[in-house]
Amino acid sequence: STFDSLPVKKWLKDQCRLLGFEHPTPVQQACIQPILEGQDILACAKTGSGKTAAFALPILDVLSEDIYGIFALVLTPTRELAYQIADQFRVFGKPLGLKDCVITGGMDMMIQNSSLTESPHIVIATPGRLADHIESGTEFSLSKIKFLVLDEADRLLEDNFGKQLQTIFSILPKQRQTLLFSATITDTIKQVQSISERKPFLFDG
Ligand code: AMP
Repeated sequence: STFDSLPVKKWLKDQCRLLGFEHPTPVQQACIQPILEGQDILACAKTGSGKTAAFALPILDVLSEDIYGIFALVLTPTRELAYQIADQFRVFGKPLGLKDCVITGGMDMMIQNSSLTESPHIVIATPGRLADHIESGTEFSLSKIKFLVLDEADRLLEDNFGKQLQTIFSILPKQRQTLLFSATITDTIKQVQSISERKPFLFDG
């Protein structure tokens, strides 16, 4: 099948075509529609499976209808992954004038501080540095996000981000969609999913 059969807006299909994406990958084929329907996701998908576009496309689709404040938070275990995810959002989101903000260790806190307070649409962060901003009282709010994405969730948990994740989850709204992508679905992952009150759509690629 082609992207024409997916329920995303025409401008996003055009972006896919521009990037040379002809056919949706299995994780995209399976997850985009349930995300647009408002479901949570628990997906088994490795790097290279097209998982970033599987969450970026529906998030941008919904964002394009209603642009306000910080809209989505993506948590990922490493700086490199954070920048790769930001790149994909920038390419797809260009027609929207998407404002993103990348929050990772090793970068200047004050610069991040001002970019967080400029109401980005999407915040892409590693847990440690985002928790630092919350604890140091940076003036920004995640209380209205519609989407929480946990990318490479197995690594987020392995890397002992537990305490930082709790700090972050504590300021998120209950009313939101949680999209969890992981190379493996373990019991711990299922526990983390339980931070969401809804039963997720399950994709086991
Ligand atoms: P990811 O699994 O999100 O890290 O994506 C791996 C790579 O696949 C990225 O460079 C994407 O640009 C590319 N990609 C994602 N979806 C598609 C698709 N449907 N067709 C061709 N390439 C894709």
